[in-house]
Amino acid sequence: MTIHLHDTLAAEKRPFEPLIPGRVTMYLCGPTVYNYAHVGNARPAVVFDVLARLLRRSFTLTFARNITDVDDKIIAAANETGEDIGEITARYAEAYRSDMAALGVAPPDIEPRATGHIAEMIAMITRLLDKGCAYAAEGHVLFDVSAYRDYGKLSKRDLREMIAGSRVEVAPYKKAPHDFVLWKPSAPDQPGWDSPWGRGRPGWHIECSAMSAKHLGHTIDIHAGGQDLVFPHHENELAQSTCAHDGETLARYWLHNGFLSMDKTKMSKSLGNVLLVHDLIRVIPGEVIRLALLGAHYRQPLDWSDEAVDGARKMLDRLYGAVRGIDRSDSRVEPPLAVIEALEDDLNTPKALAEMFSIARTLNKETREHQRRKLASELYAAGDLLGLMQSDAELWFAGSDEGVLSAPEIENLIEQRKQARVNRDFAAADAIRDRLAAVGISIEDGPDGTRWRRTG
Ligand code: AMP
Ligand code: ZN
Repeated sequence: MTIHLHDTLAAEKRPFEPLIPGRVTMYLCGPTVYNYAHVGNARPAVVFDVLARLLRRSFTLTFARNITDVDDKIIAAANETGEDIGEITARYAEAYRSDMAALGVAPPDIEPRATGHIAEMIAMITRLLDKGCAYAAEGHVLFDVSAYRDYGKLSKRDLREMIAGSRVEVAPYKKAPHDFVLWKPSAPDQPGWDSPWGRGRPGWHIECSAMSAKHLGHTIDIHAGGQDLVFPHHENELAQSTCAHDGETLARYWLHNGFLSMDKTKMSKSLGNVLLVHDLIRVIPGEVIRLALLGAHYRQPLDWSDEAVDGARKMLDRLYGAVRGIDRSDSRVEPPLAVIEALEDDLNTPKALAEMFSIARTLNKETREHQRRKLASELYAAGDLLGLMQSDAELWFAGSDEGVLSAPEIENLIEQRKQARVNRDFAAADAIRDRLAAVGISIEDGPDGTRWRRTG
């Protein structure tokens, strides 16, 4: 079966065919690093990590996920804490990487940072001005949406209706309300770069257009992100990239995940109803969070609750329980066809999981040893594809037993390790680390001390 993906622009599921046979490029809009990621932010990272795993089976994939490290929200955060912007962005970019790693998200092949691509953005804005798709006014450069006939097509909005219904006060330097900022001036105390339009900084949308073009080419196969990015972010990226590249297609497939909510309200930093991955992974194994995120189809809404987390934990207990005591005899075994086909059908993770439980049930009833090993290997291979069952079954059950090591006992061991390191007794320090690892607790040394989490 070929892979089918739901394309937001076509508004339908389409057979997936990359531009260049055998090779796939994918760009996922990544985090703005001024805060820890919440579990809603983790949804696209996890979902498109599964897509990346699926694609890597059949294609050479180049997967880029950017870091937005220049943004007004970052400036506001720096003003609040009195810290340097670079310190804030470095800290939260690193936290994002390690939090996503705790959820089993593999690092992208390319992780471009906006501040490393200012020259490319200036070049793209210059091209847009030369082509008459943008105009400069009062230190700003704006994209002229009337220059792009198909504006609104991705998000299914009619520009004329949008203008008629627009109640926002229009900035004086804009010709039309929906013209968006490509470049804006920076005050002396704000981060800025010299440009033909004075010292300033880029708008958010141009960042992704410039970075995806530089690293993946003018046409990328898959452009992905959360549903809230369809408008205005992706609509604007599409308009400016298409204009800058003489009508070339920006993305062959546009994929968007649905929202994660809590008590039916979208989880969002601005609403304040967030659960941070950084906090959750201290008390919930990363795989449980990951499974909870994959429990609904990626385009459907997903409500986060204690029950959903408990359900995910029990599901992993069932999967690990089925393979417990059986060696993974062959790591080259292919995942079951039914699991692959479920994922190839627009990433149907609930169906893939159901197939895994069906194998687990068969395995539990099976008595022939060779057959049990075969089924266990298949289950592990399916787990690899979904990024689940990455732990040893024994460790899983040891780690999920709260009685094995309590939080104060762990903190105590970490303190002992710290002392050993102060005394330069590295053998003792390593022994403590190993002891913790043996019961499924991994530790991480960071600028603000040592953190731990249960991995099993
Ligand atoms: P942000 O840092 O707000 O730009 O968000 C990073 C990514 O998380 C984007 O792809 C968003 O679309 C996505 N996202 C934000 N909130 C949610 C949510 N509640 N559910 C699912 N995805 C979300
Ligand atoms: Zn983007």
